[in-house]
Amino acid sequence: MTSDDLTKNELECVVCMEPCAELSIMCCNGHMVCEKHYLQRAKAIYEEGRSAFSNKENVQRCFLCRTDIPTYKFSDKHNKIMDVIIADGEIKKVEKETGAVFSTEERNNAYKHSLQQIKELQISGH
Ligand SMILES: [Zn+2]
Ligand SMILES: [Zn+2]
Repeated sequence: MTSDDLTKNELECVVCMEPCAELSIMCCNGHMVCEKHYLQRAKAIYEEGRSAFSNKENVQRCFLCRTDIPTYKFSDKHNKIMDVIIADGEIKKVEKETGAVFSTEERNNAYKHSLQQIKELQISGH
């Protein structure tokens, strides 16, 4: 265990006010947030039919001070799940905008996969 891990366990998440989940992220101003909130936020935005990110770089920002948090600072697990959310969200968006129809199976697979991954992250975070 590194000193980094010890610090994480003592800190409260600025979003849910609970002790931070094992997978959490700190911005350069010291704000600590469970990684899952970033996933939930992205998912919620896509569900409204909007793009969760304004550009292809997929920059995520601190909930409190809006400073950029580079992707490499998030865990591999987080980034993998985020990829699924983005893939699924973009499918929905394109369908809505163009009227194109993806196969139900394609869409369901992407959706199921992302739901499952988020559930796993929430379980491991408690
Ligand atoms: Zn939290
Ligand atoms: Zn911050």
